[in-house]
Amino acid sequence: MVSYKELGLVNTREMFAKAIKGGYAIPAFNFNNMEQLQAIIKAAAETKSPVILQVSKGARNYANQTLLRYMAQGAVEYAKELGWEKPQIVLHLDHGDSFELCKSCVDFGFSSVMIDASSLPYEENIALTKKVVEYAHKYDVTVEAELGVLAGVEDEVSSAVSHYTKPEEVVDFATRSGCDSLAISIGTSHGAYKFTPEQCTRDPKTGKLVPPPLAFDVLDAVMEQLPGFPIVLHGSSSVPQEYVDMINSLGGKLPDAIGIPEEQLRKAAKSAVCKINIDSDSRLAFTAAVRKVLTEKPGEFDPRKYCGVARDFMEDLYKHKIIDVLGSDGKA
Ligand SMILES: [Zn+2]
Repeated sequence: MVSYKELGLVNTREMFAKAIKGGYAIPAFNFNNMEQLQAIIKAAAETKSPVILQVSKGARNYANQTLLRYMAQGAVEYAKELGWEKPQIVLHLDHGDSFELCKSCVDFGFSSVMIDASSLPYEENIALTKKVVEYAHKYDVTVEAELGVLAGVEDEVSSAVSHYTKPEEVVDFATRSGCDSLAISIGTSHGAYKFTPEQCTRDPKTGKLVPPPLAFDVLDAVMEQLPGFPIVLHGSSSVPQEYVDMINSLGGKLPDAIGIPEEQLRKAAKSAVCKINIDSDSRLAFTAAVRKVLTEKPGEFDPRKYCGVARDFMEDLYKHKIIDVLGSDGKA
């Protein structure tokens, strides 16, 4: 058993309360390799933004759970080295799908876990979430739950259709499960293809798809039911078209990749939405950089030469999200 407190990590409780009061949101960036982690920590340290490092089950399988844990521990020390005296860093399990996985993360130094039982019937979702909460709270680890279903694909989590969260269920769910924050479905979606062309309109000038707006009426109704309760948005990448165009023009194939417009996320960040998950955007930045370097320098075979550029691209992206979209800079 390792406590996250020994590793210098923090849970989400205080950070969320401040974010709701302050009208901003905390970035939750997924990581599964060193360059991503370096870019996240550098961006957070230089902007003094609290940050949530997210690890999915797929990332644990890819990178090895022990290595990821020590990377997060190293991240705290790296942040201090960068001049961030009291780093506000959370290590969070993204989309935990069983009590055993959540328990293993709590025991392994995570400061926050998500139990995603949203695909189960309502009562079973409550029961499983409650079981995780009871265990996690013993160690002061915070728990995110989910109500409603997001469309899209993210590692093992996938659904063809979305079901908006039912505002009439949230009080009962939050009270009985005891969760610390709630991920809701209001039209965000996992992956780089968040909407089908049929769901969108097409800009006649650029030929690009214009996505349907988020269901802010559902968010408003949830906030009315649960005033001041921390709300989480998953699947909130914006799929920057400059990366998509770069990838496509350099031999890639991402037709009609589309995300959530940043002005909608900016609006959400000012509400009780206090955690916004971004994964696909950094994957796109990484891929665009690698394609660019390898196209411009076909003789390059030192991974540091293209992974280093990828790291720079991601750092710029993370800073942009922190400063221009979520407003979390200067809050840690
Ligand atoms: Zn998610």
